[in-house]
Amino acid sequence: MKIVCIGAGYVGSVTAAALAALGYKTTVVDMDRMKVEQIALGNSPIYEPGLGELIKMTAGRTLFSSMSYEAVREADAVFICVGTPSAPGGSADLTYYRQAVSSIARHLDPARLTVIVNKSTVPVGTAGLAVSLLEDEGWEAGRQVSVVSNPEFLREGLAVEDVFHPERIVVGVSDRRSGEIMRDLYLPFIERRYPEALQAFLKDHYPRNKTRSAYMETDPRSAELIKYASNAFLAVKISYINEIAQVCEALGANVREVARGMGLDSRIGSRFLQASSGWSGSCFPKDTSELLATSAKYGCELTVVRAAVEANQAMHRYVVAKIRRRLRSLYGKTVGILGLTFKPDTDDARITQAASIIRQLAELGADIKAHDPQGIPMFRRVNPDLPVRYCTSLEETADRSDALVLLTHWQEYIEPDWEQIRSRMRGSYLLDTRNVWDAGQLREMGFQYEGIGLGDSS
Ligand code: NAD
Repeated sequence: MKIVCIGAGYVGSVTAAALAALGYKTTVVDMDRMKVEQIALGNSPIYEPGLGELIKMTAGRTLFSSMSYEAVREADAVFICVGTPSAPGGSADLTYYRQAVSSIARHLDPARLTVIVNKSTVPVGTAGLAVSLLEDEGWEAGRQVSVVSNPEFLREGLAVEDVFHPERIVVGVSDRRSGEIMRDLYLPFIERRYPEALQAFLKDHYPRNKTRSAYMETDPRSAELIKYASNAFLAVKISYINEIAQVCEALGANVREVARGMGLDSRIGSRFLQASSGWSGSCFPKDTSELLATSAKYGCELTVVRAAVEANQAMHRYVVAKIRRRLRSLYGKTVGILGLTFKPDTDDARITQAASIIRQLAELGADIKAHDPQGIPMFRRVNPDLPVRYCTSLEETADRSDALVLLTHWQEYIEPDWEQIRSRMRGSYLLDTRNVWDAGQLREMGFQYEGIGLGDSS
């Protein structure tokens, strides 16, 4: 099979490299020259563990990159992986998606069926919209072109592992032929029939992963909604445990124990029950926002999701209030922030909890220093107005800070040199919003340690 992926971002570059590693001739198309050039050189255009190696294995052999849509002409399947950010009002902005569809339309081969695969997270009805756009351009749906919904569930930071060990592959089709093509395309993933070099790579990197993949075929609208309903559900789960964490602080209970006990019930499950400063990132905020906008438009607003969004914003304020309670006035105080990305192992710093918390702290007069192992360039670019002194290390962030606030649990923050940090800080307050540091050890060393929802710290 011949594949084209439109968009070389977090989803497109991983999808393209994975399909190329299976042996499919894959061309990834992006309008960003830098990303195209990086892939052609055998480098990853983003920070994602394992992706660089995968691209190196495939670039120039089965993986190609281009700024032109020419490769669409010979493609069996064209995956659309462009961004779908929030538009004003909350619904998804389909500008990039529409541009991609019209560029594809100009390059299709009239003599054969091409399947267009929506990997981008797009509102319910978008597969149908694409069919209408293509028909307007003179293409015959079902014979020359089919549009399939195939939402992506990969997690940044674990994307390469996820793409080869997906828990589920959801495909929404409206005709038999495109369903067969999609199943053929995904068969190696379902049966784990991977070429030898790829098997060696997977064994080396993820030796313990025994995930089995469910393949679910459904209609396009249901597939589109599965993605939004899943992300919103996870957001609700996090908001819920964060509110429970606040109750724990009020009542002297420990949220880690509460979550552990809850998670033992298989109906609840232990994942996504870690208290934190709140959810954020390039997906949950925009996907909950789109789901709310659409459900409200159709008169069935998801009030549970609305509450989760509000609880999440309140969680950011709760973190700021904790810092303020300890430091009292923030004027003239220096707060060191550790972690600018929404999770570790990614350089994606779009719409992060750090931006919201830093903004509030700065408005209250705090001087902000911050560090992140990978996220500073993007964070700086998407938040040009935030008054942050960016640091090159955790230690530099600690220098003369009154407080250190851990927002993202990067591995290098888990066991730092506490003696050195203690001697560098002006104050002694540590706020660990991921509950990963050793409270006992740190208090013994003279730090004023607080976690989230640990009961003993309030
Ligand atoms: P991204 O911003 O990292 O990448 C999108 C890429 O598309 C960019 O490189 C951009 O230059 C390119 N692009 C935009 N319009 C184009 C066009 N017309 N032609 C060619 N290239 C074009 O976005 P992402 O994070 O990879 O997300 C892509 C989609 O996948 C979104 O809908 C997102 O919601 C969804 N998704 C993302 C994740 C994730 O973890 N990032 C997970 C699941 C689903």
